[in-house]
Amino acid sequence: MGYDKVEVPKQGEQIEVTGDDELVVPDDPIIPIIHGDGIGVDVGPAAQDVLQAAANATGREINWMRVYAGESARERYDENLPDDTIEALKEFKVSIKGPLTTPVGAGFRSLNVALRKRLDLYTNIRPTYHLDGVPSPVKRPEQMDMVSFRENTEDVYAGIEWEAGTDDVQKVKEFVEDEMGFDSTIHDGPVGIGIKPITEFGTKRLVRKAIDYALENDRDSVTLVHKGNIMKFTEGAFRDWGYEVAEEEYGEKVITEDTLWEERDGEPPEDAVVVNDRIADNMLQQILTRTDQYDVLALPNLNGDYLSDACGAQIGGLGIAPGANVGDGRVLAEPVHGSAPKYAGQDKVNPTAMILSGRIMLEFMGWDDAADLVRDAVEQTIVDRKVTYDIERQIEGGEKLATSEYANAVIDNLEDLA
Ligand code: NAP
Repeated sequence: MGYDKVEVPKQGEQIEVTGDDELVVPDDPIIPIIHGDGIGVDVGPAAQDVLQAAANATGREINWMRVYAGESARERYDENLPDDTIEALKEFKVSIKGPLTTPVGAGFRSLNVALRKRLDLYTNIRPTYHLDGVPSPVKRPEQMDMVSFRENTEDVYAGIEWEAGTDDVQKVKEFVEDEMGFDSTIHDGPVGIGIKPITEFGTKRLVRKAIDYALENDRDSVTLVHKGNIMKFTEGAFRDWGYEVAEEEYGEKVITEDTLWEERDGEPPEDAVVVNDRIADNMLQQILTRTDQYDVLALPNLNGDYLSDACGAQIGGLGIAPGANVGDGRVLAEPVHGSAPKYAGQDKVNPTAMILSGRIMLEFMGWDDAADLVRDAVEQTIVDRKVTYDIERQIEGGEKLATSEYANAVIDNLEDLA
């Protein structure tokens, strides 16, 4: 297709998707990249260079295609999110972005949410693992090796709510009280009301993604994290629909924790994934006290928000934490952190989160050798105590590097390790 606001590289081929949503990746794919706002101008190019080095070291070539959203799109085209950007992300299937600023209060709505919605990227994936040498607030950060699958389109992300004092909220209140029988439940006076939809469709496709991932990556368990003891028909339904997927769609490859104890005395069949569930508040303490017992987590949107940040804090925080938004046959990798405007353009911040988000992207492409190189090279660089300011201020004897210097140090290690 033709684009006005995006230049398609002259070299390289397109990633294709099969009828089963499997990616077919050439050795010279075209990959769109949004550098992003604020510190995106620093971490975007740094990640691009490291990922290209990993591709080259494994006999491949990434043909980067710059696409624009946020500030860079406003400067060029006077709009926040050009249709061409959305179309390019759709057409080229696998892409990566830096952070985009969302103004608080007035202004436009989150471009990140708009991107996830328009591309139907219904799963937010955050792998949380510890890299040697990264300072952590816990005693045994190496025990953390979890991957959270957070639902990305419903629950609080549905954004259905009404403001106190409006006619609309009054209508909803009257409907709830008069027609739905919740009389004397809502206190008198100003009230804001929200609706929390959790659907069978949304839950099942998310839980499938988590179980598929666990099976493909030799993980032992998938834990459904919910607050179903209180919110029976939303979070409780999430748990029940999750178990339905586990019991009805995978045969002997997946076993529930109850069946495991009832029928097999707790001994799982070889290579099977065990599906269990935990209540969200309990889970927040379990990730601290029984870190090594959890593996893959499947969560509704709000639980996923809290849990994945808490997990991220245990392995070194925002400068490190990678993520990706995934739909059917489509991946948009992005770091967890925001655009940290006070550091924008200073060549100062840590690009690790964006580099490791690129690692997730490489894994989805089936380039596991390149992905492993990226991880090992980043780890070696930190073990060498060559770090950016955020890590340097927490360790003894670190060498403080600029963003670009750190990326070069990672590339040097990557080339040595290849
Ligand atoms: P933020 O940009 O993540 O920054 C908060 C703090 O985290 C920074 O001041 C810095 O801490 C640390 N930090 C973040 N990224 C870092 C990095 N790469 N290296 C080292 N330290 C890093 O959060 P925010 O200030 O709340 O949000 C700013 C804007 O980003 C908002 O408009 C928000 O909506 C947006 N945002 C976008 C995304 C996204 O695009 N997916 C995600 C979250 C937020 P110190 O100052 O202590 O060093």
